[in-house]
Amino acid sequence: MHTNNSEPKLKKNTNNKKFIFVTGGVISGVGKGVATASIALILKKYGFKVNTIKIDPYINVDAGTLRPTEHGEVWVTFDGGETDQDIGTYERFLNQELSRQNSITTGQIYKTVIDKERKGEFLGKTVQFVPHIINEIKRRIIQVDDSDITLVELGGTVGDYENIPFLFAAKSIEKDIGRDNVLYVLVTYLPVPSHIGEMKTKPTQQAIKQLSETGIFPDLIIARSENKIDKVRREKIEKYGNIPSEYVISAPDVESIYEVPLNFQKDKLGIKILNKLRLKPKRRINLVKWEKLTTALKTSKSKVEIALVGKYLKTGNYDLKDSYVSVIEALNHAAAHLNARVMIRFVPSEDIEKKGVSLLKGVKGIIVPGGFGSKGIEGKIKAIKYARENNIPYLGLCLGLQLAMVEFARNVLKMKDAHTTEINPKTKHPIVMILPEQRKLLKEHAYGATMRLGEYSAVLNKESRVFSLYKETGRLNEDMKTIRNYKKLGREDYRLGYDIKLRRPMILERHRHRYEVNPEYIKLFEDKGVLFSGFHYINEKDKLVEFIELKNHKFFVATQAHPEFKSRFEDPSPLFKGFLEASMN
Ligand code: GLN
Repeated sequence: MHTNNSEPKLKKNTNNKKFIFVTGGVISGVGKGVATASIALILKKYGFKVNTIKIDPYINVDAGTLRPTEHGEVWVTFDGGETDQDIGTYERFLNQELSRQNSITTGQIYKTVIDKERKGEFLGKTVQFVPHIINEIKRRIIQVDDSDITLVELGGTVGDYENIPFLFAAKSIEKDIGRDNVLYVLVTYLPVPSHIGEMKTKPTQQAIKQLSETGIFPDLIIARSENKIDKVRREKIEKYGNIPSEYVISAPDVESIYEVPLNFQKDKLGIKILNKLRLKPKRRINLVKWEKLTTALKTSKSKVEIALVGKYLKTGNYDLKDSYVSVIEALNHAAAHLNARVMIRFVPSEDIEKKGVSLLKGVKGIIVPGGFGSKGIEGKIKAIKYARENNIPYLGLCLGLQLAMVEFARNVLKMKDAHTTEINPKTKHPIVMILPEQRKLLKEHAYGATMRLGEYSAVLNKESRVFSLYKETGRLNEDMKTIRNYKKLGREDYRLGYDIKLRRPMILERHRHRYEVNPEYIKLFEDKGVLFSGFHYINEKDKLVEFIELKNHKFFVATQAHPEFKSRFEDPSPLFKGFLEASMN
């Protein structure tokens, strides 16, 4: 990131770069992220290079410190950014890796400006909201790569105080590059109050008005509602909001989020946007595969029930499942590719502690996802034991690997008090712990305190199931061209360090954890049938456990990584696919 203080400008805009700003009206949480991802997908399918930015107007510098039960899951980018879930939605739709720079928060903006001020970089000038804060926002939006079209989604709704600087910056970018190169999309909600039984457009009219007070007039309205928007409502918006009715796009509730781009195309959204931006399609759009996968998810006769043993926050009668959204979507992706539907049984691990493993009866596969803290740990260990002993397919993700090791140590290696030191720092058998060399390494990089964050390489054992799954799905980086390309992209840092140096075939998965498998126990596990299917090499002799599997089991695979962060609708994660396939047999 450069620290140039001059005003960021796109004035020349020689390559005719376009920006689409997506804002929300009426209420939040109606699917602005999915709408943004869907628009980006359509434009990408028309042959354009797209990029998507999410702006979160909160003061947190990133999402790493947000409680998942409050704000949903924390997404991890390849370069170790901890971001809002919307970045995940974009990656899943676009099948494209986004960097930490694609996530902007108010906290980052102010922190950068204040840090610069403290360093004296403003040369004694008074540092102000306009231009300094606005310039920093613009700089961050503009710096994101060389795409043809950049979509910028603004969190919250217009009218929120905290949205004002970002709308101001959007307007300023428009002034720099011209109205033809900027498109404004307003995602609104049309309620159907039950006592009236009619779809109301008034809140949308007010949102249009509110947005126009900032100098921005929407080009396109995405009308979210329970049902499709009818002619009468379109015309009402045209009459009272001055938006031609063909630019009001219907976005009814859907069974699967992957239907959204298909619905948008029914309203010819792609061509309408390209016309407004004075662009011609670069190729014919082809959504055949996308449609086929969506149909599978909705109508396939083959159903498989999977237990997700996690920590769920209950609010009244509602269970918050948002903290596992990536795992749920990774299962959906795998299911669509296997022409099946996945039914998820959400099992709170604390309930297993109270009521036992009978809660898992009948499921065809079990997942223990990532997690922190001691709540429900013994329930998760019980679920893993049940999967192992009853030959039920098991997939362990991060904490799910750590606890699989603990379970095996306790029940097979007979180390009664075996544990991870995260939960029991005094255990006689620290199967999972913070490794001294890891601590040192992390300190040297001064990276997110002590977390291992972002993508790390792993070299796989050729005899392992994990290896065949990555190989079959084309996720093994084998050819030197790919590997050299990582180097070109500047990604040959410590996370890929040693493996890439040796030019070994490797895979990359994203991480977010502190604790590691204690290497001193590896031999004991191996003697009893655990295959360590992959390691990350810090250097020639220090390595970290990345994957384990059981040899005599239908499917028992666990990883220290979070492969769900690299699962995409059109390209599912190998481990999820293998797991689901085994569960279906
Ligand atoms: N709490 C564990 C650790 O920090 C696992 C984290 C996770 O599952 N993401 O290592």
